[in-house]
Amino acid sequence: MARTGQEYIEALKENPPNLWIKGEKVEDPTTHPAFKGVVQSMARLYDMQHDPQYKEVLTYTSPTSGKPVGMSFLEPKTREDLAKRSAAYKTWADQTLGMMGRTPDYLNAALTAYGMAADFFAQGDPRFGENVRNYYEYVRENDLCTTHALTNPQVNRGASPANQPDPYIPVGVVKQTAEGIIVRGARMLATLPVADELLVFPSTVLKMEPGNEKYALAFAIPTNTPGLHFICREPLAGTSGYDHPVSSRFEEMDAMCVFDDVLVPWERVFVLNNLEIVNQAYAATGALMHMAHQVVVHKVAKTEAFLGLVSLIAEGIGADAFSHVQEKIAEVIVYLETMKAFWAAAEAKAEVNAYGVMCPDRKTLDGARNLYPRLYQRIHEIVQQIGASGLIMFASEKDFESPLGPFVEKFMQGRNLPAREKTQLFRLAWDMTLSSFGARQALYERYFFGDPVRMHQALFKVYDTEPFKARIRAFLGWKHEEVGA
Ligand SMILES: Cc1cc2nc3c(=O)[nH]c(=O)nc-3n(C[C@H](O)[C@H](O)[C@H](O)COP(=O)(O)OP(=O)(O)OC[C@H]3O[C@@H](n4cnc5c(N)ncnc54)[C@H](O)[C@@H]3O)c2cc1C
Repeated sequence: MARTGQEYIEALKENPPNLWIKGEKVEDPTTHPAFKGVVQSMARLYDMQHDPQYKEVLTYTSPTSGKPVGMSFLEPKTREDLAKRSAAYKTWADQTLGMMGRTPDYLNAALTAYGMAADFFAQGDPRFGENVRNYYEYVRENDLCTTHALTNPQVNRGASPANQPDPYIPVGVVKQTAEGIIVRGARMLATLPVADELLVFPSTVLKMEPGNEKYALAFAIPTNTPGLHFICREPLAGTSGYDHPVSSRFEEMDAMCVFDDVLVPWERVFVLNNLEIVNQAYAATGALMHMAHQVVVHKVAKTEAFLGLVSLIAEGIGADAFSHVQEKIAEVIVYLETMKAFWAAAEAKAEVNAYGVMCPDRKTLDGARNLYPRLYQRIHEIVQQIGASGLIMFASEKDFESPLGPFVEKFMQGRNLPAREKTQLFRLAWDMTLSSFGARQALYERYFFGDPVRMHQALFKVYDTEPFKARIRAFLGWKHEEVGA
């Protein structure tokens, strides 16, 4: 059943993930300064599922328990189902201004496709098909929060996983036992480690080379499994809701996942030693398209938030009178409308795959996910071009109460904003783009869906340009098909 915020918090308290931060074990992430803000935000998202205002858009009736469960678990069979799912994605994304990339709907979307495409996993072993289906239903019925880790540690990108300084730098299978498989190594990285479960799914494409099989695996384990450790990065959480409006609430944290001979029970194994299956899993099941669908909707919400932000900044300092500022705000409008068009087209051109999963259009989503990492960097630049020095020259909450408070009120006011509101607005802009949290957002948008260079290369390889080449050849009156023929 759709959980409440309190249930999420209690689960984290009872079974805290094995989180380490600056050399210390985190005993209770719900009260730890690095996590308590995001835990509260997550709790709010779960509570929305029970709020009469949002309940209908965020939940549907489970086909097995008859209870309300999260809409991102809805098995999409029609375009209407996709629209229901995307309305739910948007409702959550709006709550965080798009500043939390890994709300649980992102991976719920992937798990749903995996669960529907259980036959794909059954090709490796019939048990794996059953496992993936059971796991999807288990996560759905308990409304668990999952995180995932796909990439290998950044040790030597020029060598294959099997040719790293140690064969167990990437996560690999050490042995199989009656209980399950023992895995060793690490994955880099998992965002939002304050989760119930960790999914280890295929990394980037594994070359079909001997020695790589032991890295060709997929499984899921609880985040407090013995031997699994999360080494967290530098915390970026702000402390004050006024001074750090987004980092105090939405700092998701990223962590390296270390597997120190971890037992993965057989019922949690989905792929084992199978390069072909592991390399095809995302696209063949539709998980890729469903994750990208959530992402496109999320980026619409984030771009809307930036449009509101730059518009208020320009108005607040009277810069909206300048034509180049109007042009820059219009540029953000164009980006927003572009992302909305991707969203609409992905749903309108959706088709059912071999496993009965209604999948948003891959080509449209490939366009969106290759474009947005560039647009986002430009949006940050526009915030700087319009906000200028105001993006750092602001007071803090405490300055207003100090003996200099009257000066702050006078000199830090805006054209149409009292100083407290102008400060709050510019602090938001700073936190979204320039604070350490804001800088991480820029890195996140560049990389979170994969390396943009390799994503473009992959698009180049799969996109059929032949009809367009043929048109040019015909226009030029060529009789042959190949250049140089
Ligand atoms: C903030 C943030 C959050 C993230 N969250 C998650 C998460 O929750 N789960 C998850 O699984 N992953 C997550 N990622 C990881 C993300 O998937 C990777 O960043 C992305 O796949 C790129 O891999 P990499 O960072 O290891 O870069 P690398 O592969 O180390 O690339 C480094 C450089 O080498 C180049 N390069 C490397 N290999 C090749 C090649 N074969 N051909 C050409 N150029 C190459 C790259 O283009 C780049 O310039 C996150 C990343 C960030 C930054």
